[in-house]
Amino acid sequence: FLGRAVPIKDPNDNIIQWIGTCTDIDEFKQFQQQKDNFLGIASHELKTPLTSLKLYSQFLEKNLRKQDDNKNADVAMKMDEQVNKLTSLVNDLLDVTKIQNGKILLNRNEFDFDELVNEVIAEQQMSTSHRIYLENERIGNIYGDKNRISQVMTNLISNAIKYSPDSDNIQITTKLTEEDCVHFSVRDFGIGIPEDKQDRVFEQYYRVSGSKEHTFPGLGLGLYISSEIIKRSGGRIFVNSVEGKGSDFCFEIPKNYNH
Ligand code: ADP
Repeated sequence: FLGRAVPIKDPNDNIIQWIGTCTDIDEFKQFQQQKDNFLGIASHELKTPLTSLKLYSQFLEKNLRKQDDNKNADVAMKMDEQVNKLTSLVNDLLDVTKIQNGKILLNRNEFDFDELVNEVIAEQQMSTSHRIYLENERIGNIYGDKNRISQVMTNLISNAIKYSPDSDNIQITTKLTEEDCVHFSVRDFGIGIPEDKQDRVFEQYYRVSGSKEHTFPGLGLGLYISSEIIKRSGGRIFVNSVEGKGSDFCFEIPKNYNH
């Protein structure tokens, strides 16, 4: 039960009575649980048809190119891109249910951090006209979950692209801190985030309300998932931003976190 009470005062400010409410939050918790279960089942069920759709669209594109039907091959390619977007939304929903059920486990191994940065940038660069620059210090091998860290990098870079519709440059920086942590930052020169909203962007489903000129698609989950991954990697994630000027999203993780 959740109790709430307010005092009723006389003209001399003496409390003469309390009025309270008592709410049964069991029902609310049950509802939350049902909602989370539904999200988990629905996103899981969506994965199978999406996997087939991806195979079909790739098969179609390949065959149309072979027949020199480039116009229709381009349509199939666009279908494939949309399937990728849908898959990443469904994966985000699945990740959120995993986080809520405490089932997001990191699979840690040694991997080459610099190589991963180059791979992620190359992949992002293929699907954007923004110019992604890299200023890097040699980091070498680190111990962590390569796929999950790649997911965080991809999320930060794709946000930087999405939220800078009128500016072209994205600057990535990597370096080692004095505490032997890997520092990774993505700087954009886009719409930026008002100061009072900067901490909230890491909350689940939180989105800064769009400007009049632009609407940006999204569920408000990417940064929440990223911050959970970074926390579980023993690190921290944060943002410096100026509204209208751009944002700098950074994470720092220990090079050899082993807990
Ligand atoms: P989504 O982009 O799907 O809304 P995220 O969790 O990735 O979800 O981001 C949460 C919110 O933070 C976004 O809706 C946006 O308002 C803000 N945001 C994230 N990255 C940037 C950025 N690089 N520039 C400006 N705003 C950003």
